[in-house]
Amino acid sequence: MGLVFILACMLSCNSKRAGEEENASADSASIQSERPAHWSYSEEGGPAGWAELSPVYALCGSGKSQSPVNILSDAVKGSAEWRIDYKKTPLEIAHHEHVEELINNGHTIQVTPHEGSTITYSGKVYHLKQFHFHTPSEHTINGKHYPMEIHLVHEADDKSLAVIGVLVQEGKHNSNFDQLIKYLPNAAGERKTHDSVSIDVSMNIPEILSAWHYIGSLTTPPCSENVQWLVLTNPVAMSMEQLSAFSSRLKNNNRPVQALNGRMLTIETLSSKN
Ligand SMILES: [Zn+2]
Repeated sequence: MGLVFILACMLSCNSKRAGEEENASADSASIQSERPAHWSYSEEGGPAGWAELSPVYALCGSGKSQSPVNILSDAVKGSAEWRIDYKKTPLEIAHHEHVEELINNGHTIQVTPHEGSTITYSGKVYHLKQFHFHTPSEHTINGKHYPMEIHLVHEADDKSLAVIGVLVQEGKHNSNFDQLIKYLPNAAGERKTHDSVSIDVSMNIPEILSAWHYIGSLTTPPCSENVQWLVLTNPVAMSMEQLSAFSSRLKNNNRPVQALNGRMLTIETLSSKN
């Protein structure tokens, strides 16, 4: 399959030290008072009712540029210039139960890389803040879900967001993900830092990629809009066992597709700095 990626997740594991650091997070008390209303993917508190849970979530119901969307693969070719520059980082991984801040996506397993990985769009730099996983995929292609989708969330200095979505299909075992799967948290609320495990976020990214581009939103409350979305046109493959390592932990954490409302999708070329 050649591709990909991704992101990474090719983790090269440096020698594991005995007593590797594992920090259980205990920071919830300090932010308790500002914690937004609880939401979920189940019937109660689920996507259809997110807007009613809190005024802060209003856009989840009234927004006209929401994500995810169904992508029709015959989009027109665009001319924007995107450039990816991903670096190595120690592995910091958490299984979130609650939203703790805007781009900390609740109800997912999230990896938080160190500073230094970026994408650039027309001279504007977006810093990679975290990546996380949805099972099944949130975006659909010609109406079809993939078993998983990885979201790489980037933020610019002016707080605007750009997200790269990577679709994952079932295929051969993908050793790029072995180390990540080995360290997947087992319980919601678990947070671990593995300083001795190094993730090369750039590993295996081809020099030239293409992606569907559109303007959308966060796919979780508060569903904020004006998010630059890039969904890579080439999926990554993983074995069924590898996919189940994620889906058994995440269950179904996908928001249904949202109306396009006339938004245009284009196919853009991304270059990477490898
Ligand atoms: Zn996501």
